[in-house]
Amino acid sequence: MHLTLNITHHWHADSPDSALAATNSGPQGLAAAAATERLAQDGPNEIPKGREETTLQIIWRQINNPLIWVLLGAGALSVAIGKGTDGLTVFAVVILNAVIGYVQESRAGKAIAALASLVPQNATVLRDGQETAIPAREIVRGDLVVLRSGDKVPADLRLVSLKSLQIEESALTGESLPVSKTTDPVDAGAPLGDRTCLAFGGTLVTWGTGTGVVVATGAETELGRIQLMMNEAGTKVETPLTRQIEQLSKMLTIVIGVVALLLLIAGLVRGYAIGDAILAAVTLAVAAIPEGLPAVITIALAIGVQRMADRKAVVRILPAVETLGSVNTICSDKTGTLTKNEMTVQAIWLPAESWRVTGVGYEPKGGFVREGSGAAPVDAAGLAPTDAPPSAAALELLKAAVLCSDSTLEQAGGEWRVTGDPTEGALVVALQKAGITAAELRAANPRKDAIPFESERQYMATLNQRADGTCQFLVKGGAEVVFQRCTEMAGGRPFDAEAAHEAMRGYAGQGMRVLAIAEKPNVCSDNTVEEEELHQGLRLLGLVAMIDPPRAEAIEAVAAFKRAGIVTKMITGDHAVTAAAIGQQLGLTEGAPLTDGRPGGIGANASAAAAPIAPATTGSELEAMDDAQLRTVALRQNVFARVAPEQKLRLVKALQTEGQVVAMTGDGVNDGPALRQADIGVAMGITGTEVAKEAGAIILTDDNFATIRSAVEEGRRVYDNLIKSFAFLLPTNLGEGLIILIAVLFFPFVGGTILMPIEPTQVLWINLVSTITLSLPLALEAKEPDVMERPPRPKQDPGTARFLAVRTLLVALFFTAQALVVFLSIIGRHGGSVSHGALAQAQTGAVTAVVLAQIFYVIQCRSISGFVTEIGFRSNLFIWYGIGLLLLLQVGFVYLPFLQVAFGTAPLAGGDWLLVLGSA
Ligand code: ADP
Ligand code: MG
Repeated sequence: MHLTLNITHHWHADSPDSALAATNSGPQGLAAAAATERLAQDGPNEIPKGREETTLQIIWRQINNPLIWVLLGAGALSVAIGKGTDGLTVFAVVILNAVIGYVQESRAGKAIAALASLVPQNATVLRDGQETAIPAREIVRGDLVVLRSGDKVPADLRLVSLKSLQIEESALTGESLPVSKTTDPVDAGAPLGDRTCLAFGGTLVTWGTGTGVVVATGAETELGRIQLMMNEAGTKVETPLTRQIEQLSKMLTIVIGVVALLLLIAGLVRGYAIGDAILAAVTLAVAAIPEGLPAVITIALAIGVQRMADRKAVVRILPAVETLGSVNTICSDKTGTLTKNEMTVQAIWLPAESWRVTGVGYEPKGGFVREGSGAAPVDAAGLAPTDAPPSAAALELLKAAVLCSDSTLEQAGGEWRVTGDPTEGALVVALQKAGITAAELRAANPRKDAIPFESERQYMATLNQRADGTCQFLVKGGAEVVFQRCTEMAGGRPFDAEAAHEAMRGYAGQGMRVLAIAEKPNVCSDNTVEEEELHQGLRLLGLVAMIDPPRAEAIEAVAAFKRAGIVTKMITGDHAVTAAAIGQQLGLTEGAPLTDGRPGGIGANASAAAAPIAPATTGSELEAMDDAQLRTVALRQNVFARVAPEQKLRLVKALQTEGQVVAMTGDGVNDGPALRQADIGVAMGITGTEVAKEAGAIILTDDNFATIRSAVEEGRRVYDNLIKSFAFLLPTNLGEGLIILIAVLFFPFVGGTILMPIEPTQVLWINLVSTITLSLPLALEAKEPDVMERPPRPKQDPGTARFLAVRTLLVALFFTAQALVVFLSIIGRHGGSVSHGALAQAQTGAVTAVVLAQIFYVIQCRSISGFVTEIGFRSNLFIWYGIGLLLLLQVGFVYLPFLQVAFGTAPLAGGDWLLVLGSA
């Protein structure tokens, strides 16, 4: 049926039912077929891109830069003083340069833009009454969307039902405080921020749950309409480094301009004709400005970003590529990032008895062995007989745990897979080992209400109707939070806190994650469960302990980071004893550095630095600390447990105040602020909420800690290569500048013209060909063998700046001397009579000498830290291809007639080649 959409429809003034009716939907959501039809009719739920930069605009940006204007001026001047070929050559070079710049920039921009689509947004909808996860772009009008905290609202919704739903709407209204939602209609004239019964596409659910019917998608949504009005920013590649370079280039341009002006005056004083003097000044400018730099930077960054994506780290914010190279502290989640997140229940504790559960992974194969019953019979696979049933009490505990969970287990292609939270999945698996599936249990004991698990609450609760008609609250969560609320134990005894705590510590000490399960029977008064009703009077059923072993590659990554001068800190919501045990297994606690490398140890408090440190610091301990104490502990401690997401922000800030450059991982709704505050926010691509992904600078598409290692490695490589490119380009330009300077100031005056060692067009030739064939391949250089064996680069990096300055000066002087020697000796060979042919030959010699010297120099630039021999001959074949190409081009430059005309070159004599080669 066709539906006409009224744009000015006041959905917020409608009742939920009429909104459902108006969109031809119902409480079961749309039928799958109807949804497909609507998708075809209305198009995908995507906000069309704003106006993008046109090709012409990008090309104009390449040309609209002071350097190019100087070049064009020089070209015009050449034509004006009768050197038409020179002028045309200059124009040709300018065009070529713009084209290269355009091609590279648009390719780099496209590569980076494409990355965003690697991390698609998903949404949960009800179709045919079934909850299904679909890509957000497939949402259509009438879809019933299920919202949970951490979700990004996929389209504009009229809310139908909700529980404590709060939404942060700053994307739309600029207001950063979350808005509490209702289902009640509001006044038709209410402003956007007051339409509390609507959820707007692009806003973020920060608390609670809800469902809503889609009333507008894509461009029709409120955000879509705003977006269409705005122009999208171009695909310009920009990072702190590129900005610095841009500033440096501006400064260089000014300095070079001033020097060129002085040169002009000096030339006039020496008696040059005005045209010649201007041309000399322009040549200097052309020579000294590194025009290849922007392209090289763009390429190096774009390739870095691409390679990181290939290694499962998607960069959302480009400057992160650079910052990665100076990260010296990584704060990581535990579960799923450092550990495998394939939980297996291994033990069950009941007040009167305890059980061991056998079997590994998600396969529901294994049995129950009563602790203290002597050695259990175990088969070849290490499994006890599966027919050993647990006691009724143990079964009751497992049932309660599974009823108070949402995960499901299914077998697909011979492999057992858990959908939902792995912690809960482990419970489902354990129950199935006793022969009961979650589906049949849940069908027999329907859930009437629930408080979902949130990290800061540390528990989940449900209201279930039992087969006998009674109702009970079921609670599962972290041991302390559940114990606090217990007054009774299963079996009717009063709650024995000591016994419960001791059992818990026993399991946690082995690195197990412990869940406490409690109930409150006979609570059928109404059909809801509220937090206040759970504050006391619970009956503890028992504990379930599960292992979640560290990932082998995470252990390796931690060790690799240590060698690279990077400290790994684990921040988890899990229990301190569990955290400490896992921390130990990961190698976080042994040999933890007690100083940050600065003389005098950490912090101001030397005596605190000497005090022994506990294996883990808990969130409540952090809470009690003042900022100074927190800073000391943040630096020294590597394991933090029972940390609420809000405390991550304090920890990041404390570490940053201590001068650390911090990467912080996160997946939850409340990790957003810490992810933003960190120098590099790392969001989890699989388990991460949309909120976290939105806040992260980098998204790990495999949630794996070891991926951060690849990213850091790649970040360091990119930075190295940028430095290498500078180290190569800057001396070349300075050298060329000096050649011109010395010639104009000191060279003899021949036949009323200047004895120029290199003509402006020839300078352009050197710059153009060497950028393409040498400095671009340098940006592709493979990582150096020690890239992860040296300490992180300091945030302010004066060492590298000094290294570059000294190297630039020395190498430039060498280039200058070499070119002048070749030039003068060829001139000298012609017996001092400077004919046109002799000059051309000497200039050709000088240019060739510079080009050959560049080839030798680029090989040296391949490694910053050591000798070229260490990085291997074949680690970057592009360099060799580049060198081969450059040699061909240079031979063409010397011998091809049309290039001879364009650049005023002449064939070299055999002896000249020897001279040129020798000098290089
Ligand atoms: P982590 O930092 O390891 O991801 P979480 O915040 O996920 O920690 O979990 C913190 C604590 O909350 C766990 O130690 C566990 O006791 C409890 N918990 C974790 N998941 C659930 C769940 N699905 N239901 C109830 N309690 C849970
Ligand atoms: Mg977790």
